[in-house]
Amino acid sequence: MEFKKCMRCGCFFMSDNDVCYNCEPRDKMDIANLNSILEENNNFNSIQDLSIASGVNINNLNRFITKNKISGLDSKL
Ligand SMILES: [Zn+2]
Repeated sequence: MEFKKCMRCGCFFMSDNDVCYNCEPRDKMDIANLNSILEENNNFNSIQDLSIASGVNINNLNRFITKNKISGLDSKL
């Protein structure tokens, strides 16, 4: 395991994840939120649009996309 800096809150932690234990539930909520938004409306033209619609910041959004956490998005953006 590596010593890492949390991508959400910036604290240091030991894990294989990108975020600390405190932020893991927040990541999961964001991902669930994004997936449900995309189920209802997949006409987003950019990551910025999706960020505004979901309230998830762009850094986190890009991280989820890179890790393939958001289904069906790659073909649209
Ligand atoms: Zn954190």
